[in-house]
Amino acid sequence: MQKMLSLTLEAPQNGPVMQLQSTLTCPACGHNSTETMPIDACEYFYDCKGCGTRLKPQAGDCCVFCSYGSVPCPPIQENGKSACCS
Ligand SMILES: [Zn+2]
Repeated sequence: MQKMLSLTLEAPQNGPVMQLQSTLTCPACGHNSTETMPIDACEYFYDCKGCGTRLKPQAGDCCVFCSYGSVPCPPIQENGKSACCS
């Protein structure tokens, strides 16, 4: 007799699914790059892989994903705008 191993996935069952991938669009050259966002930190700087421009968040935004990404950073997704680290 073998014991059945049951794996429990720790996926949240309620609430919206957190998106951890965001497509950054460089304002200088228009280069698109899909990046994985850290869940517990904000990425303040991002070097464009197309032209090398260092992107910084716009005024009022906490990270480059909020300014240039297709998806805002995880803290914003979870708690809404202005709930992120400041
Ligand atoms: Zn660029």
